[in-house]
Amino acid sequence: MTPSITQTSAPVADSHVSFYADDLTISFNQNPTQFTDPRTLMMKMTDHMLQANWNVKTGWSAPAIIPYAPLPLDPACSVLHYGTECFEGLKAWRNKKTGKVHIFRPDLNARRMNKSCDRIALPSFSDEEFVKLLLKFVQIEKRFLAWEGEVEMADEDDHDFLYLRPIMIGTTPQLGVATPSDAMFLIIASRIPAYNSKPLRLLASSPEQAVRAWPGGFGAAKVGGNYGPTMRPMSAAAKHGYDQILWLFDPERRLVTEAGAANFFVVWSTPAGKTEIVTAPLSNGTILDGVTRRSVLELARERLACESLEVIERDFGIDEVVKAHEEGRLIEAFACGTAFFVAPVAELGVDGRDIKVPLESNGKSKSYAQTIKKWLTEIFTGEVEHRWAAEIE
Ligand SMILES: *Cc1c(COP(=O)(O)O)cnc(C)c1O
Repeated sequence: MTPSITQTSAPVADSHVSFYADDLTISFNQNPTQFTDPRTLMMKMTDHMLQANWNVKTGWSAPAIIPYAPLPLDPACSVLHYGTECFEGLKAWRNKKTGKVHIFRPDLNARRMNKSCDRIALPSFSDEEFVKLLLKFVQIEKRFLAWEGEVEMADEDDHDFLYLRPIMIGTTPQLGVATPSDAMFLIIASRIPAYNSKPLRLLASSPEQAVRAWPGGFGAAKVGGNYGPTMRPMSAAAKHGYDQILWLFDPERRLVTEAGAANFFVVWSTPAGKTEIVTAPLSNGTILDGVTRRSVLELARERLACESLEVIERDFGIDEVVKAHEEGRLIEAFACGTAFFVAPVAELGVDGRDIKVPLESNGKSKSYAQTIKKWLTEIFTGEVEHRWAAEIE
């Protein structure tokens, strides 16, 4: 690569613009968790958290990595009354052979978190500084990720990962409904179990009774307020053996939006014999702009699209899916997101009956979901070099 020789003036760190990784202080946990294999620590939070505070007058404080601990919060603070909270979710992956740690496209999480913050009147920050801090935090916590250099790993063991959760909350203690003048940014991390990739059973919601998001609403923002109200319908669906709800929108058109807190794709052939990989569009604000969704679309367009296969973002109704199934044109369906990764869908509960979704295209060859999943795994575990994987030093 040719080094750039463009002269730019040194950036002035303005605390009203962002927190800055250069200002980071670290105070290590004096009582670190003892373990030999981090994989035995299921659902355990790591030993540290990253924190930066904001005030409308003074801007952002210097970020600090400090021992993980409960937060002292004023009972009158904004987040506890008006839900001024948003979050992100991403994974740090450790390659079991090389020990190298990568984060997948953290710049997209930074951008999305800024958008979510804006939607609920929380302050913004620099995407680059967010990524730098995230990498720094993972560097401190990477002993929570197993690899062969430190523990014995079997051939069939997967590469290990840690779940990262950036959060922002409004902390101003004031009972009036008002834009918070104080906020707190945090990054925490947890061991979570790998999703077992059992094919999913989804229950299509009844859009007269429950919708997840609506045009002009806030479904496109990763704000906490989107998730609490989905828990009752989700546990009702779970009682009937469904893993997630397939959220429909509009009683007439019954548009397919998302599967639980994951994006949804369907693959079918058209009556003319063309294959289409279809997902709902971002245009009306009811769909979360998933990093996995975006990556699936980009890889599919780059590596699968051809004259006979098209990758499409467009509105589609559940009745179109049912029709494709009835006419034997349904090829497969899958949900995707950081938590689930790419999970095949085996069944769709629609109007009281279960539609069986094929799990492998034409019997022998790998399904599209499997193929895309393999490509993505190669990228975020560093098996192949790719611009989407940010490496931790
Ligand atoms: C987080 C989330 C997704 C998945 O986004 P990724 O960036 O791929 O993890 C999809 N839908 C909803 C509603 C979500 O909250």
